[in-house]
Amino acid sequence: MIDNHLPTAELQALDAAHHMHPFTHGAALAEKGARIITSASGVWLQDSDGARILDAMAGLWCVNLGYGREELVEAAARQMRQLPFYNTFFQTSHVPAILLAKKLAELAPGDLNHVFFNGSGSDSNDTNLRLVRHYWELRGKPEKFNVISRWNGYHGSTMGGGSLGGMKGIHAQGGLPIPGIHHIDQPDWWSEGGDMSPEEFGLSRARQLEEKILELGPDTVAAFIAEPVQGAGGVIVAPETYWPEIQRIVKEYGILLILDEVITGFGRTGRWFGAETLGITPDIMTVAKGITSGYIPLGASLVSDRIAQVIDEGDEFAHGYTYSGHPVACAVALENIRLLEEEGIIARAGSEIAPYLKEKWESLADHPLVGEAKIVGLMGSIALTPDKASRAKFKGDAGTVGYICRERCFANNLVMRHVGDRMVISPPLVITKEEIDELIARARLSLDETLERIEAEGLN
Ligand code: PMP
Repeated sequence: MIDNHLPTAELQALDAAHHMHPFTHGAALAEKGARIITSASGVWLQDSDGARILDAMAGLWCVNLGYGREELVEAAARQMRQLPFYNTFFQTSHVPAILLAKKLAELAPGDLNHVFFNGSGSDSNDTNLRLVRHYWELRGKPEKFNVISRWNGYHGSTMGGGSLGGMKGIHAQGGLPIPGIHHIDQPDWWSEGGDMSPEEFGLSRARQLEEKILELGPDTVAAFIAEPVQGAGGVIVAPETYWPEIQRIVKEYGILLILDEVITGFGRTGRWFGAETLGITPDIMTVAKGITSGYIPLGASLVSDRIAQVIDEGDEFAHGYTYSGHPVACAVALENIRLLEEEGIIARAGSEIAPYLKEKWESLADHPLVGEAKIVGLMGSIALTPDKASRAKFKGDAGTVGYICRERCFANNLVMRHVGDRMVISPPLVITKEEIDELIARARLSLDETLERIEAEGLN
């Protein structure tokens, strides 16, 4: 049994002494001490000092069902008793993987009827990278090796995922990107649109894909990968002209489209998948996070009939993870999907909660610090700016004001993340209207306090 009652200071000291955190400046954290989360229910977290915190990020964009669902605990326990582990290598299988693959094939759009299981979003994208290159090799076109992705996209932090992503901070460490990955600019009108209208800008950014394909040579390009809505990049919603043009281009040049739905899958955009919300037809879809509502790690690559047929008929696909199709993770995913479906959680999120949240979220645009407010389903962002009309940036380093705002949110017991000077939300799909009111009130208070602080420091 884990002792949840150790004093906070002792836990912080042990954490600083032994625990290396992901995406964290170790020395800075050691000085400050981590906030230690001890339990959670619904959309509410509790920390080791007893504070009750509204989690407007669903953990890391994943706890779609909300915290504390006993049914998932039971599903895991039942499966652990029955068969805690068996692999899916070497012509073996087990019931949870079979049933989950069938269920995913039913839910996924188009002909994505085949599932390769992975352990996370990052290694799902590593799978996709090897899969598309292998597919073209089997089709006798090994020179189709290049994959195009976007600056400021996020596809994980493994060698493959981190290379596909367009985060310069990740590329700067450890020799990324690996060969054959090329980036084009993101469709972020607020920051990069200049004098263009959003519609013109959306088209021009989509056409960068065509330019890149022509520059590399269409016969050398395997695939384009993108998130329907960039999540970790700051909830960047592309202008409406963007996706139809991307779809035209990939079709025209015979390039596979990999849609990374690690965040947007399982209800985040108000439908099961972002592909449906945005009208995109992918050849491969990456899923993770919401597939189990984050209760246990699992990722998957959902693959079209055409690709799966070629892979199946070729030599053995020399790829796989010990935990590909882990039975306990699959059992939890099946139960999570059952609850999302039978309790109508995604349907309600789309028809009732998303419109309510949109109205409230967009109302923040009247705050003096807030430029555009964007939202798709239950993922939203606001751009902070000292001058809305010119979409100006703050004095000093980018992200300083966002960080201040994030800290004010934390102090007001609201988890809202900052990406540079954008604030982002992605609450559990089970959030109620009253909880949305609370979220907005705390966000507004935090924005007021941020404004006071930056005025005092002369940052605007
Ligand atoms: N793709 C996207 C779109 C993501 O948002 C993330 C994680 N935030 C990943 C991939 C990587 O997933 P994981 O952290 O499970 O490896």
